Amino acid sequence: MTQERIPAVLSDLVKQLGKLPGLGPKSAMRVAMTLLEWPENVTRKLGQSIFELRDRLCLCSRCFGLTQSDPCPICSDPQRTRSTLCLVSEWDSMLTLDQGGFYRGQYLVLGGLLVPLEQKSGDKLHMEALLKRLAEGEVQELILALGATSDAETTTSWLLQIVRDRFPNVRISRLAQGMPLGSEVKYMDHETLRQSLQFRQNL
Ligand SMILES: [Zn+2]
Repeated sequence: MTQERIPAVLSDLVKQLGKLPGLGPKSAMRVAMTLLEWPENVTRKLGQSIFELRDRLCLCSRCFGLTQSDPCPICSDPQRTRSTLCLVSEWDSMLTLDQGGFYRGQYLVLGGLLVPLEQKSGDKLHMEALLKRLAEGEVQELILALGATSDAETTTSWLLQIVRDRFPNVRISRLAQGMPLGSEVKYMDHETLRQSLQFRQNL
């Protein structure tokens, strides 16, 4: 079938699907054909969900997480402690941490990390919101959960300087760095081993 013979509605959809990560023109066409094969109500439901994604989701004004209500259920939960604030770079990290069910404090999504090589500076991050939150005086401990990449390291040093300077009484911690569960020393890379040794625990 030549390009001209494809009905415009279909070729438009294929073009748009092709912009999704991992989908080229051929696989986009396959997805479009699958959507056509599905029962009508299932395909329409998918369309509705995509539509509502932009219509009904917003950012929580306190933590910057995606939510259908502002403040989000996490920020408005009275059972959660307000003295610990966990800082993550992206919302999906917050989601993963919270799904574990072991952390019952507050969150704030920084909105990325400092990337020195791309000259991604701090003004795109929610630093002002973080400082405002700390200024409220409820937070006693700030937990940095930014990951173990070099950008996370850069961001951590930058944050430490600003937060320690403005809020010397707030305890700052970060997630432990080191060997993942189930791993063996002989298979570890040098940097992970260096950090594991540096942050070793007393027994
Ligand atoms: Zn929230």
